Amino acid sequence: MDENSEKITIDNEELERKDTVIVKCPGCGANMNFDPTTQTLKCEHCGTIEDFSKSKSVKEIDILNSLNERETWDEESSVYRCDNCGAVVVLSPHEVAKNCPSCGTSHIVKSSELAGLKPNAVFPFTLTKEEGLQKAKVWAKNRFFAPRAFKKSLVVDNVQGVYEPCFTFDSFTYSTYNGRIGKRHTRVVGSGKNKRTETYIVWRRISGSFAYNFDDVLINATSSYEQRDLDRLKPFNYDTISVYEKKFLFGFMARRHEKSVSDSWEEAKVVMDGELKRRILSQYVYDVVDYLNVSTTHERVTYKYVLLPIYNLIFNYKNKPYKVHVNGNTGKTTGKTPVSALKVCLVVFGVLAVIALIAVLMNLQ
Ligand SMILES: [Zn+2]
Ligand SMILES: [Zn+2]
Repeated sequence: MDENSEKITIDNEELERKDTVIVKCPGCGANMNFDPTTQTLKCEHCGTIEDFSKSKSVKEIDILNSLNERETWDEESSVYRCDNCGAVVVLSPHEVAKNCPSCGTSHIVKSSELAGLKPNAVFPFTLTKEEGLQKAKVWAKNRFFAPRAFKKSLVVDNVQGVYEPCFTFDSFTYSTYNGRIGKRHTRVVGSGKNKRTETYIVWRRISGSFAYNFDDVLINATSSYEQRDLDRLKPFNYDTISVYEKKFLFGFMARRHEKSVSDSWEEAKVVMDGELKRRILSQYVYDVVDYLNVSTTHERVTYKYVLLPIYNLIFNYKNKPYKVHVNGNTGKTTGKTPVSALKVCLVVFGVLAVIALIAVLMNLQ
């Protein structure tokens, strides 16, 4: 283990030395950006490709020792803040932010804030911007009530590749529980005219112990991104997860974490509690739960600070931003579109017209 960590440090130092050569294209001097198709750095001007070393051995950080493990991200990134909505994003130093990934406006300015913790893992973008846009278009096609202007806004210039931060937690849990569950039964009561079926519940007390190992419970680490949206974009392809390396960021934005590891761990425990209740109850046959008390201990808790590749598309409609998110790793899409009042009216009138027509036809008969 010690040997391994030493090896990683040496590799990093080698990369630091090569950096100045790799960031600028050796052919023409233009910027090199991360290319999802080849998983290398590619010159935005002449297409020259430079590979860089990637490691798949992502380390889990012990939550108890996390203070010693914390490396900051500050020296290798610039922080920008949006004057319009307050979003904070992180870029590699040679890049300049043009649009805010939260509200789409260009009121984004360089800030002296710090980038905070350094991520230790990244799911690289495997879809290009164009491929991400195609996924969003297929998704939008099925949104019947979305206004035409929204569908027209699905152009590559409006798409931003952003690494969204999250913490993923592992925990070995041991729980004891007790509760009361019930099963509905029916019986026939009365006789003659009063004969009827009634439902009654047979209650049963349950108790026991339950062990479960959680792996990578994913908690969104910013307030500008909804946990719900993140959950809808899951899963991410774990075959692609790599040790964080700043070159994955070239050409993309990243949002820095706003929640602390410990606050996120509190949220993870709530998610785990819910999951444990579900798993405990799934061992029984029941219709109703009177109560279920679960007491859980967590052991060997570890976390990773992970960047998730997401293409965001922001569509401003009547002064309100609507966002579509595409998982840049798998293409899964989620989001909100405004509803076209015109289309809703047309459908309502259409339905009324059909009803009216049926009424007329029935009268004729
Ligand atoms: Zn070049
Ligand atoms: Zn903004």
